[in-house]
Amino acid sequence: MTELEKIVQNIADNHSAEKSELVRILADDSINDFLFKTADAVRKKYVGDEVHLRGLIEFSNICKCSCKYCGLRKDNLNTNRYRMDVEEILSLAKKAKEYNYRTIVLQSGEDSFFSKDKMCKIIEGIKKMDFAITLSIGEKSFEEYEAYKSAGADRYLLRIETTDKSLYEKLHPKMSFENRKRCLFDLKKLGYETGTGCLVGLPKQTLDSLAGDILFFKELGADMIGLGPFIPNPETPLKNEKTGNLSLSIKVMALTRLLLPDINIPATTAMETLHPEGRILALQSGANVVMPNVTCEDCKQKYEIYPGKAGLNNTPEEYKKVITERIKAIGRTISTGYGFHKKTF
Ligand code: SAH
Repeated sequence: MTELEKIVQNIADNHSAEKSELVRILADDSINDFLFKTADAVRKKYVGDEVHLRGLIEFSNICKCSCKYCGLRKDNLNTNRYRMDVEEILSLAKKAKEYNYRTIVLQSGEDSFFSKDKMCKIIEGIKKMDFAITLSIGEKSFEEYEAYKSAGADRYLLRIETTDKSLYEKLHPKMSFENRKRCLFDLKKLGYETGTGCLVGLPKQTLDSLAGDILFFKELGADMIGLGPFIPNPETPLKNEKTGNLSLSIKVMALTRLLLPDINIPATTAMETLHPEGRILALQSGANVVMPNVTCEDCKQKYEIYPGKAGLNNTPEEYKKVITERIKAIGRTISTGYGFHKKTF
């Protein structure tokens, strides 16, 4: 074994790492094959061969934030805005049932129209259909998170985006890094399965800060980690920046699997957007979840966080078929359970 291989093996065996070790691995691509194989073995040992499919509903692209990388930002006037009504959301959930998905992920911009009571009504309606529910609707107060939890929400996704505080504050005008962290720790306290993650390849982001992101996931005790490459959106201030690197994203994901061996990790759409095999590569390097979009055609096109989003040309039905075949072709199975985080470690 080379020295770097020994470091990777040691992280895989002990599920802990020094920041300097993570930086060395991130900086050296000669270790990639070994790292990906090791993360795949850890995934197999702790969460098995099942892949969980979660039905994603993007129910509003209206947002009060101005995140500099995101196409939903309020200052982007070149986008057609939409918001679904409760009936539309419930009817998409009903469709997801036909595809045998056991989880609904509700994602949107930070749209104040969806008050606490409205959200609770949606959550209760979906819960009645016997789904696990994941929310991805941004920063809220403790009381709001508490109400959604009582209404039946099980999980919450809120990416920290970057743990580099000064970069965070540059990219998120009028938002605070402290509040983002507060949200995540509140979600944990309330008993949500809490998901976070980061963007890889943000302008001025360093390997040191990516290593810090991975250690933050561990510190939070995240139940789910979703991450992917930054993809510049022409309708944002970051339009001329460089696209994030797919293999660096997969490295960050693989290292996360070594540190948090039993959590749920999606192979994200951004990975597939940069390479047709991106999602499969991710599934073979530590990921065990896919989140197929069940949003209707018209809205899906308008939920343009970044350009060229993978899956836009498939109907939800086609996508389900294609992804199922691809998953089976790599020797994996489709889970029939809710896919909760089972703590074995
Ligand atoms: N309002 C919700 C959902 C945000 S969109 C929230 O705040 O959590 C979901 C994720 O898309 C974001 O967390 C971000 O990491 C990712 N994203 C946004 N713009 C992107 C871009 N240009 N390239 C890649 N991913 C992006």
